Amino acid sequence: MRPSKPLTGGGVQQSRLPDTGNTYRTEGVLVLGAQIRVMGVQEQYPFDVEAVRADFPILDRLVGGDPESPGEGPGDDTPLVYLDSAATSHTPDAVVDTIADYYRGYNANVHRGIHQLSQEASVAYEEAHDTVADFIGASGREEIVFTKNTTEAMNLVAYAWGLDELGPGDNVVLSQMEHHASLVTWQQIGKRTGADVRFIEVTDEGRLDMEHAAECIDGDTQMVSVVHVSNTLGTINPIAELADIAHDHDAYVFADGAQSVPTRPVDVEDLGVDFLAFSGHKMCGPTGIGALYGREEILEGMQPYLYGGDMIRRVSFEDSTWEDLPWKFEAGTPSIAQGIAFAAAIEYLEEIGMENVQAHEDLLAEYAYDELTDLGGVEIYGPPGHDRGGLVAFNVEGVHAHDLSSILNDYGVAIRAGDHCTQPLHDELGVAASARASFYLYNTVEEVDALVDAVGEARDLFA
Ligand code: PMP
Repeated sequence: MRPSKPLTGGGVQQSRLPDTGNTYRTEGVLVLGAQIRVMGVQEQYPFDVEAVRADFPILDRLVGGDPESPGEGPGDDTPLVYLDSAATSHTPDAVVDTIADYYRGYNANVHRGIHQLSQEASVAYEEAHDTVADFIGASGREEIVFTKNTTEAMNLVAYAWGLDELGPGDNVVLSQMEHHASLVTWQQIGKRTGADVRFIEVTDEGRLDMEHAAECIDGDTQMVSVVHVSNTLGTINPIAELADIAHDHDAYVFADGAQSVPTRPVDVEDLGVDFLAFSGHKMCGPTGIGALYGREEILEGMQPYLYGGDMIRRVSFEDSTWEDLPWKFEAGTPSIAQGIAFAAAIEYLEEIGMENVQAHEDLLAEYAYDELTDLGGVEIYGPPGHDRGGLVAFNVEGVHAHDLSSILNDYGVAIRAGDHCTQPLHDELGVAASARASFYLYNTVEEVDALVDAVGEARDLFA
């Protein structure tokens, strides 16, 4: 048994939930904190957002350009309003400290040395798998493979399982709102194996057409791979319902959790999924680390995806045998500091509480949806504001999304513009690109106001 290394700097030093003496429950979520006025209704942040913001020094940056001469490049006179967390979130001091502690205190390769530093690094890296497993309700580290990101987690399954298990006559069922990480991967594996790839249609309101889902999934379906929260429409898909249909046909279910795991409580047992993928950099962690959850018996039956050091048990010139799960799927030197910091990010989120993160996202998304709607000349994609993830993709009449993003940048407002890696969905929407504002635990109602004001300015500029 290796010695257990305490993760210095890995947790949150102080509670983010100060007792304001101002407490009530809304839809089962404990609500505390500063009062704000939203949509004329007295609402409350679910936690102390200003205290959270203090953990993210980057939010104090000045950026922007001169709104008098829009699009003329970077400046440094406007407070940053960061509304692009669906692309990547920021990293709190506790997580940055964890990375620094690792490099300053116990930097060493894992599983390769019996010297003290290597043992300390190995224990911290391995325990990070336990933290991730607990976070999503997996049964243990055997079910958590660390990957580079969501994309790699999907490719791992597509290559290691798909190439072996799929063939002509089989089908894989996706949805029209898949991210390219899933869509391109299964499309290409389909071409290589001869399996058909089907797409569940999206309704006019931006939801999955569940009747069509039931038609697509049949006795030849081997895998249903669907995004949990759409990064473009904000739709929260009924994964558990899909899992029931898929399992009735003995198909596996893979949820793309890139946008859901960072923003709401996600439990693999409740969802009934066989695989789940997500990225550390969208949930307060560093880049270069993500996770694949896979049910243990399925992972056991799969061949490795990458071969090499660390994933083998015994090698001869003729053959090799594999390490236990999850190491069988983690060939070569892994992202050690990033893995340990991923766990620190999860501890940070847990300190706030995922129900509270979700409540905060709901509040901002609904407010943004309503305010942008009221502004006029704005087309918002996806379901109505009270029933979506914490992001809003939209277009402003007569303004290209790239121009809009550039003008907003002059006001310090950072949003995304483009196809958000959902080109076929944009084809379905009949637009080449959209603007997307996405919210996270450190965003405020005032920042949504800044967004809406700047969108109004841009609309008037092009009118
Ligand atoms: N799926 C969804 C729904 C996403 O939003 C993203 C990131 N935009 C990905 C997959 C890919 O994530 P990554 O780039 O971290 O692999």
